[in-house]
Amino acid sequence: MADTGRRKPLIIAVDGPASSGKGTVARTVALLLGYQYIDTGAMYRAVALVARERGISWDAEDAVAEVAAGLHFAFSFDGELLQVLVDGRDVTADIRQEHIGQGASDVSRHPTVRRALLGLQRALARRGGVVMDGRDIGTVVLPDADLKVYLDAKVEERAQRRHAELSAKGEVVGFGEVLEALRARDKQDMERPVAPLCQAEDAVFLDSTHLTIEEGVDAVLELAKARGAKAGGAGRLD
Ligand code: C5P
Repeated sequence: MADTGRRKPLIIAVDGPASSGKGTVARTVALLLGYQYIDTGAMYRAVALVARERGISWDAEDAVAEVAAGLHFAFSFDGELLQVLVDGRDVTADIRQEHIGQGASDVSRHPTVRRALLGLQRALARRGGVVMDGRDIGTVVLPDADLKVYLDAKVEERAQRRHAELSAKGEVVGFGEVLEALRARDKQDMERPVAPLCQAEDAVFLDSTHLTIEEGVDAVLELAKARGAKAGGAGRLD
């Protein structure tokens, strides 16, 4: 079809369980399209981290919601690495600790915590040209997104990936422990009453079990292209 020149920057939602590859795929797609990448999991992780540092229990809904409402987030790129700044402090490494992932799942169960972050997440996407990843982006945060992708993989494969990541960071954790932690987090994220992890009706399901990151990226780029995205970033999009 001829390019009518009416292509506009899209809003792309990528959801899926932990270690499904959605973060890497979403970030790479954003770079190639020249879009902004927004990692909403990092926001919940930062809330968990700061609550812990202030001695606030992850179960204390009101106090955690107050933390969430008061934080200022900024995202920037150092090469391909996403840097997360909270109140001006670089928390990129701290929020990736294994127990903070569980803490993020704990604090994200609270409706008032989710509400505190929702407005910010929607505001960041308002102008388009964004790829946002999380658990409820296609269902709750951006129900009108131009493209919704639900990225999943077999839990054993996801645990392998997570285990390899931890080993690379020098963290010695048994494979069985990683697998059990992933299962527990998936279950908590899928069974919570508010904004549970689930595939939006109009999302495209992508099974990344046997896909490389590149193949996952290509699949999402193809879908984006079919919806009118054009290149503008670090890569080509024919
Ligand atoms: O994606 P990531 O593993 O960093 O997310 C950490 C946790 O934050 C998830 O397990 C989930 O409980 C929560 N989360 C959420 N909604 C989002 C993104 C993350 O509840 N949109």
